This record gives sequence, structure tokens and C-alpha cells, in this order.
Amino acid sequence: MSRSPVIVRTLPALRRALDTLRSRHASLALVPTMGALHDGHVSLVRLAKRRASKVAVSIFVNPAQFAPNEDFAAYPRTWKADLARLAAENVDLIWNPDAKTMYPAGFASKILTEGPALVGLEDWFRPQFFGGVTTVVGKLFAQVRPDLALFGEKDFQQLRVVTRMARDLDLGVKVLGVQIVRERDGLAMSSRNRYLSPEHRGSAPALYRGLKKAAKRIRGGDKLAPALAEAAATITAAGFKLDYLEARHAETLAPIASRKDGPIRLLVAATIGTTRLIDNVAV
Ligand code: AMP
Repeated sequence: MSRSPVIVRTLPALRRALDTLRSRHASLALVPTMGALHDGHVSLVRLAKRRASKVAVSIFVNPAQFAPNEDFAAYPRTWKADLARLAAENVDLIWNPDAKTMYPAGFASKILTEGPALVGLEDWFRPQFFGGVTTVVGKLFAQVRPDLALFGEKDFQQLRVVTRMARDLDLGVKVLGVQIVRERDGLAMSSRNRYLSPEHRGSAPALYRGLKKAAKRIRGGDKLAPALAEAAATITAAGFKLDYLEARHAETLAPIASRKDGPIRLLVAATIGTTRLIDNVAV
């Protein structure tokens, strides 16, 4: 049976709701999202339910992490369906502030991180992105004060950046990464997949196919460069234009020359039509 989550949109209402939730020393998990929820988001919520006694989900399409030429205005907003999904998962609280609540007039602060936020992956192609993410996630942590926060490995660099920030700033939040949830044909679930034309949707699984094959070759002892070159060929042959396709150290995201140098993560970002997708796999 599902129970309606408490929905709050202002900071005073959030504080009151948290006072109620936090009584009797309940542990609280936060799942930050931009809405347009799919099974990937739901897997974060389900793990949160297992790890904490109360679960809050934030839905906020954060203007600060979009560049002017990106898809902020077009980003899918599916409030009714999102609410139904979260109610079905018995989420306790939905934090759904508007932009004025998050960035009131005169707002002039930013959290800037280095380390995994400056490794030449997403940060090169979306220079404003991590400043927007860390600032909003820092605010969400301050507002909700969760014990635990869950982030998807889908946004692998983001997971590393937020984990580092929480540690560096002693935010008292344990950040937990959650495996990527994929469609049956391997495409990583994403709110942006709905932008794909039927033709591009048909080609899109090449992204994962290329990564998976490269990971297998590297595990089997092949060198990184030829394995990545084959993956790049698979991905571009499907109609993608590559931003990057790289083997990085899975923890630091530093460039890595061979398997001996540490655990490897293969990361890709590429555009098909007008839709930019990202994905990654462990080696
Ligand atoms: P978003 O709403 O796209 O900002 O995503 C909210 C959270 O869900 C982020 O931590 C994402 O990494 C995570 N997420 C998005 N897609 C997936 C997926 N396919 N599998 C697992 N986590 C995901």
C-alpha cells in the first residue's frame, strides 16, 4: 500500500517536516534529482529505503548547472508522474523548491571543487556544470541535513566530485554510489533519452556496446589504446559524435596508462542528433 509523501516547497515548511521526520532519532537519506523520474532514480530510492529509516527525494531542475546553450528550458518536467512513482515507493518527503527559494535575490556564493572536478572530462565540455552541481548539492545537504545521500554511477564524475566535497567540507553526509540501471538493450536510463528520435534511440545502445567490448578486451590483457579505438569506431559508426572516450583511474579519475596503474573506469560522452549522452563501465 502506498502512502502520500509530505511535499514541501518552502524552507520553513521543510524545517517543520524534518523536525517531525527526525524525531526518535530516525536516520534520513536524501536522493537528489531533477525529476523526470525513471527506474534509475527508483533504484536510488529503493537502496535509500534499505539504508535509512526515512527517505527524502529532492526534485529541483537546477538552472545553475546548465549553460545558456543547454537544455534547461526544454528539460522534461513530469511532476504528476514523479509524485505517483515516489508515493508508490513510500518516500517520506519530497523537497521541491522553486528557483527563488534556492537562489534568492542577491545570491552570491558558489562551492568550487578541484580534484575530480578538474580532470578534463565533463568539466572540459560543460565548464559551468560542477560549480552548479556542488553549490546546489551543498545547499541541499545544508537544508535537509541527511545522514546519507545517494547518487548514481551513471554520472560517475559527479559521484566522485560530490563524494570528495562531502569529505573535504566535513558535511557529515555519507555519499553512496548506486549502479547504473539500463534499458533491456543496454542503454543507460536517462531523463534525456526521451529526446531521442526513434532512429537515434535504435542506434544509442552502441554507446554501451562499445564500452563493454573495450572493458572485456582490457580485462583479457589487451592494451588500452586499441581497445578504446575499437570502441570509438563502434560508437561513431552508430552516428555519435564523441566528446571523450577515456580510460581513467576509477577513484581519482586521473589519466591511466595501463591496468597495472589501478582500477579502471571507461567513460564516454557523445552526441547523437542533438542529444548528448554519457555512460561508463568498470573494467
Ligand atoms: P538526475 O535527475 O538526472 O540529476 O539524476 C538524479 C540522480 O539519479 C543522480 O545521482 C544520477 O546519477 C542518478 N541516475 C540517473 N540515471 C541513472 C541510472 N540510469 N542508473 C542509476 N542512477 C541514475
